[in-house]
Amino acid sequence: MNTKIEKISKIPTEIVLNKVSHTLYIIDKKQKNFPFQAILKNKLKRIGRKINDLKKTPVITELKDGGIICWVMASDSLNLFQCHTILRKSLAHLIEEKPTSISIVCHVEKNLIKLWGEAAVYVALLNTSNLPSHKKNHKINPLKDIKLYGISLPADLKTISASVKGNNLTRELTMTPPNNLTPLIYRKKIAKLAKQNKWKLQEYSMSKLKQMGAGAFFAVGQGSEPQDAAIVNLRYEPIGASESIALVGKGICFDTGGHNLKPAKYMNGMHEDMNGSAVVLGILQAVSLARLPIKLDCWLAIAQNHIGPKAYKQNDVVKALNGMTIEIVHTDAEGRMVLADTLTLASRKKPKAMIDFATLTGCMHVAMGDRYSGAISNRQELTCMAIGAGSEAGERISGFPYDEDYEEDLESQIADIKQCTLEGGPDHIHAARFLGRFVEKNVPWLHIDLSSSNRKGGLGAVSSDVNGFGVNFGLKIIQKILNN
Ligand SMILES: [Zn+2]
Repeated sequence: MNTKIEKISKIPTEIVLNKVSHTLYIIDKKQKNFPFQAILKNKLKRIGRKINDLKKTPVITELKDGGIICWVMASDSLNLFQCHTILRKSLAHLIEEKPTSISIVCHVEKNLIKLWGEAAVYVALLNTSNLPSHKKNHKINPLKDIKLYGISLPADLKTISASVKGNNLTRELTMTPPNNLTPLIYRKKIAKLAKQNKWKLQEYSMSKLKQMGAGAFFAVGQGSEPQDAAIVNLRYEPIGASESIALVGKGICFDTGGHNLKPAKYMNGMHEDMNGSAVVLGILQAVSLARLPIKLDCWLAIAQNHIGPKAYKQNDVVKALNGMTIEIVHTDAEGRMVLADTLTLASRKKPKAMIDFATLTGCMHVAMGDRYSGAISNRQELTCMAIGAGSEAGERISGFPYDEDYEEDLESQIADIKQCTLEGGPDHIHAARFLGRFVEKNVPWLHIDLSSSNRKGGLGAVSSDVNGFGVNFGLKIIQKILNN
């Protein structure tokens, strides 16, 4: 469903608000006169809180005609992630009642209006999206419209709505159970999306990849039956756009770990190991809807990591598309195998920059928890840009090193490189050093290891565990790269 957004420049009166069922009222410390001030002050007094506490904890007041208002305080001392978080917590009070309409009042100083108004709409739309459910009695969210009061500025609602739709696509795909999203089903869904959005599509099937010599990808794909793995290339090429950015995504539809089988606790949730490819699709969807004037060249590495007589094993040596031989060390390090050949293919087209998204290493998760994702790049300035884009998107990114000497740990006695080590150590950096060996033509490349793709109870703007982290970030960094 498309939620209608209506902008009204005036602040509503008590008479208007009394007729509204669900209101989010954003104030700042400068506001001395606002509707239902006395009710709010009495409630704050009763529960022993100060008005400034609304910066951290929202408060609900009830109106005599049955409506509710959730009060929250905007402040320029909060960054966008904090702003998204407090707005998510505030709006949750309203959204849990499944309203058909929400009014958002942005009663703040001029310098805060655009940021808080746009953020409130973004958070409201994200958390009223109708995500798939398999419960018989699942009720869909009926939000038909948002009335946005207090905004006369030209808020960028088109880009917000595009970003939300991209995020929804990412979450929808990532949440899909693995029996409903095998590589073949996934490829069919992608072909449908390509048709709807007029993206150009090209598939590299297993037989084609074998013929081309893409042995790194093939090593993983050969382990499952049917052999329906593929590298899928999607292109968005609007008229007049000249520069091209490549996006690469890890799309492991289910990761058993292969012969180095994961125990149940760690295999649980492994249908989400295709999240990187879903983030790429989400960004592509958002960029297409926002009609950004750039070319996107997207490469999705879609496969499963299974056990079976044909599955690759420890000590195998395989030859990648770029001619390098790889000593297999751990079959659960399949992500870097499928990405290696995919990065080669993407970089051969010499894009202005290349960004890959992958739920790649447990090590990044250990380093960061599930609140941040990590960036590693062959250009330090791209890592810095990623951190900035993350702040501007409300999706937090931290940088990690890419120094050459880390690669000493991947020296192999029998092949050109080892896939990983068995000794532990900084596997998130080893993985990036490994991947970097398959990037051709010295293309500026940024690797995002998505440690924050799933956080119980939500993260930033999003209240679902699977959060679509990376879509809003992707939109921001693409624009930064273009303007650079
Ligand atoms: Zn794995």
